[in-house]
Amino acid sequence: MNPNSYKTKCSPTWCPGCGNFGIEWAIRQALAELEIPSHEVVVVFGIGCSGNMADNLKVYGFHALHGRALPVALGVKLANHKLKVLAVAGDGDAYAEGTNHLIHTSRYNPDITYIVCNNHSFSLTTGQASPTSRTGYVTKTTPWGEIKKPLNPLALSLVSGASFVARGFAAEPQHLKDLIKVGINHKGFAHIDVFQQCVTLNKVQTLEYFRERIYKLDEKNHDPHNRDLAMDKLEKDEKLPIGIFYQESRPTYESNFPQIEKEVLVGKELGKINLDDLIAHL
Ligand code: SF4
Repeated sequence: MNPNSYKTKCSPTWCPGCGNFGIEWAIRQALAELEIPSHEVVVVFGIGCSGNMADNLKVYGFHALHGRALPVALGVKLANHKLKVLAVAGDGDAYAEGTNHLIHTSRYNPDITYIVCNNHSFSLTTGQASPTSRTGYVTKTTPWGEIKKPLNPLALSLVSGASFVARGFAAEPQHLKDLIKVGINHKGFAHIDVFQQCVTLNKVQTLEYFRERIYKLDEKNHDPHNRDLAMDKLEKDEKLPIGIFYQESRPTYESNFPQIEKEVLVGKELGKINLDDLIAHL
């Protein structure tokens, strides 16, 4: 297996230099190195420039409604928990329309890897301010600058109970690929926020902006099992650390259901269920 095993014949429609190229490569390379066959992977996409990855990735895919990638991914996981389930969304999709799903999926802890392509902008709709845009960010709909404080998405998922919280950078694809591999192997909800340059619309958080501020947590001996330390790094660090902030071992949501312990839900024969008895019982 190699990264090209997970490529369709479609060419990406992203602008040249878009961070989505690096993120897509990191996902394909991670799947190849983990030797997961295409037919055992489902990726659920949100709406946004990153969602166009649905055309390029040769795996089972579902392009969900705006903000609804996680509930669909959870449905897939419960229907067939043997599959590797990933969800890919942009920051607008994940942290505006989809915020409630992020909170509750963090709490549930299903074995899903959530990759959020965070370019701090609603880029598909020409660059309006998103929940991660900085205060003062000027766009067509905020001509005097964004007046709201930005959301801290990883701090939100951490306090909501996510068992794996990490950050990558699209222009560090090898590092991101390693994060995605750990996230896929993690038994539980893995939230990986990925800083991504939008070369066309975001002229503030550029490649240079990120490069000046980013450093790697594992080069600073960060302990990813210390939750308080993780929160400190997420809230107080003036630089932009990338890597694993926090990881804990906790039962997955689906492991609580004895009905699917031995057999996947989709493998059960519906013919053996008497619907009249079931309705009478209810
Ligand atoms: Fe990428 Fe921005 Fe172009 Fe969208 S608008 S494809 S995020 S560079």
